[in-house]
Amino acid sequence: MPLYPLFADLTDRTVLVVGGGMVAERKTAALLDAGARVSVGAPTLTDTLGEWAVQGRITHLPGRYQRNWQKGSWMVIAATGDRPLNMRIAAEATARRRLVNVVDDPALSTFQVPAVIDRSPLQVAISTAGVAPALARRLRERIEGLLDPAWGPLLRLAHRYRPRIRDRHPDLAQRRRFYDWLHDGPVRALLRAAQPALAEHTLQTALETQAHAASPGSVVLVGAGPGDPGLLTLRALRALNEADVILHDALVPAAVLELARRDAERIAVGKRSGGVHTPQDDIHGLLLKHARKGSRVVRLKGGDPFVFGRGGEELQFLQRHGIAFEVVPGITAAVACAAHAGVPLTHRDHAQSVRLVTAHCKDSLDRIDWPALARERQTLAFYMGVGRLDTVSEKLLTHGRDAATPFALVENGSMPQQRTLTGSLAELPELAQRHAISAPALLIVGEVASFASSLHWYGELLQPGTSAAGAQQYSGTLADAA
Ligand code: SAH
Repeated sequence: MPLYPLFADLTDRTVLVVGGGMVAERKTAALLDAGARVSVGAPTLTDTLGEWAVQGRITHLPGRYQRNWQKGSWMVIAATGDRPLNMRIAAEATARRRLVNVVDDPALSTFQVPAVIDRSPLQVAISTAGVAPALARRLRERIEGLLDPAWGPLLRLAHRYRPRIRDRHPDLAQRRRFYDWLHDGPVRALLRAAQPALAEHTLQTALETQAHAASPGSVVLVGAGPGDPGLLTLRALRALNEADVILHDALVPAAVLELARRDAERIAVGKRSGGVHTPQDDIHGLLLKHARKGSRVVRLKGGDPFVFGRGGEELQFLQRHGIAFEVVPGITAAVACAAHAGVPLTHRDHAQSVRLVTAHCKDSLDRIDWPALARERQTLAFYMGVGRLDTVSEKLLTHGRDAATPFALVENGSMPQQRTLTGSLAELPELAQRHAISAPALLIVGEVASFASSLHWYGELLQPGTSAAGAQQYSGTLADAA
């Protein structure tokens, strides 16, 4: 028989929990959250349960279980870990027609406590009728990740305005349309952006002026991280799930795009899409066109949108055109590559600061303050530098950085084909060429780069002398070390 699902109002109703251990404590906490009066019967209590008893938050029934503990309770939870005792508690509860749950024992229980995703007043409860609690937990994690935390405050706000919404939109179809707007539009986005006053104001305005009918779209600027889908944030995943249109950079791999809503329109823009370069103005034009149609647009960029991603320019453009936007940060290449190459970007003994530098073109290289970069005890992370490694190395050396300064050059960071090349600054251009390092690659220069030799853990490590010609020499070195 399938179980009958229900949500119980336990406000000020007494519930008996038998047992005083960690499990009893967890159950008690959840019952208190629901406003129940909890009596906890057990010879001894955990420290927290003990404190709650002293504070009067629960009633402690000391000693061994007695039938009269059940008096006055609406339901009973047996969490004693003693099966014969649990059986007795369950039998005595059932005889009095009280619902009873024996923790982890569906056979003895007349009700079960589901796994819950809490966005109160919205709650999603999952039950496998006790058959597969591990699956219930997994589903809970999945849904937890997908459900915007802003649903809670949104539904509370909507509840307060319910009568006014009904007055304003007596027609059911119209009212539905209004709720669709409320659930998916700018009000929820503003709550997500921690702007409750503005959210409420937007709702009021929509009620007064029908502003929602225009239903302007919005843009979420999302950082996709360095390539491994596991490095997306939960917020990025949610945005991808709600997108109507996704404008993505060429750097964003298919594995990330696969996580997006199936029927979202995907448009590749940026440098390496089919070998053509989409001019920034065209990207702006596309953002505007789709947002004005009322679509929820995700602008998906590699790494973080505000680190060499032109995210700022795109937001300025959207702002000029009155399009609402949000930003979801991503893990930038320097952070991801360092982590995957075993290079701590700062270290108390070796580097007190990190600089993110672009080596994109000659122009940007000319404008760099090389004497400042050449100073020691700082870590440099060069983006877009594969074509200019000789200039970078030469400039740093002529401005006084030690020729023996270690570097780590990380190609395809965080992806299965990652390669990490290490060596000293003076030999950087030659080594990179010998190993044919190509974009995307990130160059880390600084004392900390030497940690790659010992802390490297992901992908392939290329150390000096590991090229085909030097393989012998390398195994020699390993043998020496052994
Ligand atoms: N907004 C991005 C950077 C865009 S510039 C971010 O925050 O990471 C593009 C440069 O980023 C590339 O030329 C390369 O230097 C670096 N990069 C991006 N992804 C990378 C990866 N997976 N591995 C190594 N470098 C990467």
